Amino acid sequence: MKVAVCSTQPYDRESLQAANAAFGQQLVFFEERLSTKTIALFAGYPVLCAFVNDRLDAEVLQALSDQGLRLVALRCAGFNNVDIEATQRLGICVARVPAYSPHSVAEHTLALMLALNRKTHRAYNRIRDGNFSLHGLLGFELSGRTVGIIGTGRIGQAVAEILRGFGCNLLAYDIAQNPACSALGVNYVGLDALYRDSDIITLHCPLNQQTRHLIDAAALARMRRGVMLLNTSRGAVVDTAAVIGALKSGQVGYLGMDVYEQEGDLFFRNLSEQVIQDDIFERLLTFPNVLITGHQGFFTTEALASIAATTLENIRNFEQGGQCQNEVTRALLR
Ligand code: NAD
Repeated sequence: MKVAVCSTQPYDRESLQAANAAFGQQLVFFEERLSTKTIALFAGYPVLCAFVNDRLDAEVLQALSDQGLRLVALRCAGFNNVDIEATQRLGICVARVPAYSPHSVAEHTLALMLALNRKTHRAYNRIRDGNFSLHGLLGFELSGRTVGIIGTGRIGQAVAEILRGFGCNLLAYDIAQNPACSALGVNYVGLDALYRDSDIITLHCPLNQQTRHLIDAAALARMRRGVMLLNTSRGAVVDTAAVIGALKSGQVGYLGMDVYEQEGDLFFRNLSEQVIQDDIFERLLTFPNVLITGHQGFFTTEALASIAATTLENIRNFEQGGQCQNEVTRALLR
């Protein structure tokens, strides 16, 4: 099938082309992101291969459907950027890659946690500047600390497995308990108890109507003073303005983010020659206890190969049967 690949980076092209040797799809690569402004570029393709910041809202979908779009093959797990109601109304199938090495994101979460705690990002710069003072680099032992995990699906479980090895006490909140986590000794509690008792809180739930701004000013106020907050799920699970307030007051002691509410205007591009217009993001960069990465949790060789293979498998399933395993159905819209 003719597949328009949106938001292509060189590594996407490489991994999709390598995997496509076994599938033989006609892949047409575009660097542009899909939005109302770029619809015309992507018109006329039966399949769109989209990523996290391509905007597939009702207007975009209607226009592309009129031009023959039948399948949106997301090369990611989250689907919050797609108006699923609109795709169902228009008869467009949406498939995703529900699981591709949850360890990639889990390990990146640990990288943020360890760096923030032991301040390796600051130590790196200090040593290069000939400053060998330890002042301000004091950390704490993870062993014996309590970590609260919100969302214990594939990634949350992988985080729990790693943290168990560090000797952490594990609390969790999820709308559905994962028996594998319970078997690890994870203690499921309500959000109030998780906020109250956790030294570190890490987010691994999807972005949906229930979780949008789950971490708002009220939630932050219920957390332990000086809590470490980690978000590698989706930016809008956290109310960024509220978290800036909590960083200023010291209520949040550390913030690690791989995702950001307005990341669509920033991430995956080199903007180093431009003046960044997002004042909220720029304010975050001024805190010494904030560590931000640009949505790279998924970015490992293993995950890229797995994403490419599953995406192409989804397209082949659709081509052969008009249906897809890994279809985003209404049941997933909780
Ligand atoms: P998953 O579907 O396996 O697990 C999600 C878990 O969240 C499930 O257990 C679900 O019951 C739970 N959940 C749903 N609604 C909830 C709510 N209201 N409160 C608490 N828990 C709730 O998904 P996953 O593979 O573990 O991925 C989790 C999220 O990580 C994805 O939705 C995606 O947004 C994000 N992600 C980020 C990256 C990255 O590069 N940073 C990569 C992949 C996925």
